Amino acid sequence: MSGKPLNIVISGAGVAGAIVAGLLKNEPGVRVTTLERVDPEDHSNAGTGLNIGPNALKLLHQADPALCAKLRAPGISLPWQSWRTSLTDGTELMNLTLTEVADNDGIRIRWADLYQQLRSHAREQIHFNTQVTDMAYASDASDSPLRVSWSATDGSTRHEDHEVDLLIAGDGRYSAVRETFLGKPEPRPLGVVIYRVLVPDTANGLIDDYEQWFNGPYRLLAFRVPGNAIYIAGSFPITPGASIDDDARSAEHLRALYTPQQGTASDQARFLIDNICRYVDDIHWARVAEIEPAFTDQRGRVLLLGDAAHAMVPTLGQGATSAIEDACVAAAMIRDAVRAGPVSVAALTARIGEARMARAQFIMDLSRDASDTMLPGSDTVAMTRKKTQSEFLGQLSELFRATTPGQAPESGGEQRKAS
Ligand SMILES: Cc1cc2nc3c(=O)[nH]c(=O)nc-3n(C[C@H](O)[C@H](O)[C@H](O)COP(=O)(O)OP(=O)(O)OC[C@H]3O[C@@H](n4cnc5c(N)ncnc54)[C@H](O)[C@@H]3O)c2cc1C
Repeated sequence: MSGKPLNIVISGAGVAGAIVAGLLKNEPGVRVTTLERVDPEDHSNAGTGLNIGPNALKLLHQADPALCAKLRAPGISLPWQSWRTSLTDGTELMNLTLTEVADNDGIRIRWADLYQQLRSHAREQIHFNTQVTDMAYASDASDSPLRVSWSATDGSTRHEDHEVDLLIAGDGRYSAVRETFLGKPEPRPLGVVIYRVLVPDTANGLIDDYEQWFNGPYRLLAFRVPGNAIYIAGSFPITPGASIDDDARSAEHLRALYTPQQGTASDQARFLIDNICRYVDDIHWARVAEIEPAFTDQRGRVLLLGDAAHAMVPTLGQGATSAIEDACVAAAMIRDAVRAGPVSVAALTARIGEARMARAQFIMDLSRDASDTMLPGSDTVAMTRKKTQSEFLGQLSELFRATTPGQAPESGGEQRKAS
């Protein structure tokens, strides 16, 4: 590399932004400024728990084995090794061991721990309590750099850079970067409410690895996470675009949704229903929606990653997972381009977009298709049993055995982790 380093600004040190910042931190050909509006210890907006798919861990291990090991460390996460689905009366419909469809385990982790690990790995690179306030191309010239302004969230300091070569949007589902350069994306609602809560683990071993329970289209999902806690996510259909009214959020309504009409709730389902009702005031509510995937703007100096690029339905737990994939692939392509010589930023972002678009589309389509059991009138039993057959298992295998661009499908797997 010779000449000026590539001047990169990353807006948002969430999942994708923090990983790109960490992966590029020792690269001499780049100068990276990463801006994160929250405090380093503030994970209050980080919600509850999540499962990260084997595909993300596989690519992260290849890109940064030390960071992958930090995420897998005991006390930080637990291995995700199986997926079991039952009815809330206890009838088992599916019991999948992930090694049937993946090269390595996924993980179960608390949001706060995920952000903490990713951000501490790139701590020196991140300006916390700092938000992007303004951004535009500096001029109409075709090779114009970007002008990006940022300020401390308390307004105390302000900074402007007129010579930004590449602006990376890691600012999430409501990305201001995307809105500025590509327009506000129209959300495509699925017609499903999803709510999440973290409760103390008083289950005496009833709940451990990833499981789902259905009563018609009403779904519960739960798993244990470190810190003596159980993550519970419930869902139910709603008219697409409608708001969630107070009655729908009440403990009585939620209890009725998951209680079987015939027979009694299994011990697992009863534990989950009781705890949802007990902690109903702590629930985080959301309506499931996706946006049209896009990775770059027309002039090519803006690169979108993670939710900014492709907020998706969360049914297969692929939002943060695919943000990790994006970050690993994008950082490697930026590094390779910089090492190879003078960089055409527009050509680079186009190549990253090409490398990610088909994959993002595949993940979004599969996540949406897998939501069929959560829609009104669905035959949950038949649709879940279909997920035990070769067509869906083949798709899961393609999902979980991610490859980096140009890599043979069977190469480069992370060693399977024993629990
Ligand atoms: C109900 C639900 C359940 C989910 N469960 C899972 C799951 O089990 N597994 C999974 O993989 N995914 C899950 N997801 C998806 C996951 O939450 C997201 O896909 C993931 O966090 C996206 O990562 P990101 O890096 O794109 O954005 P984020 O992680 O959201 O990070 C964006 C960052 O940008 C910062 N920011 C925003 N604006 C600015 C600004 N102007 N200046 C500076 N900083 C800014 C924010 O503070 C934040 O830190 C779930 C989502 C929902 C809604």
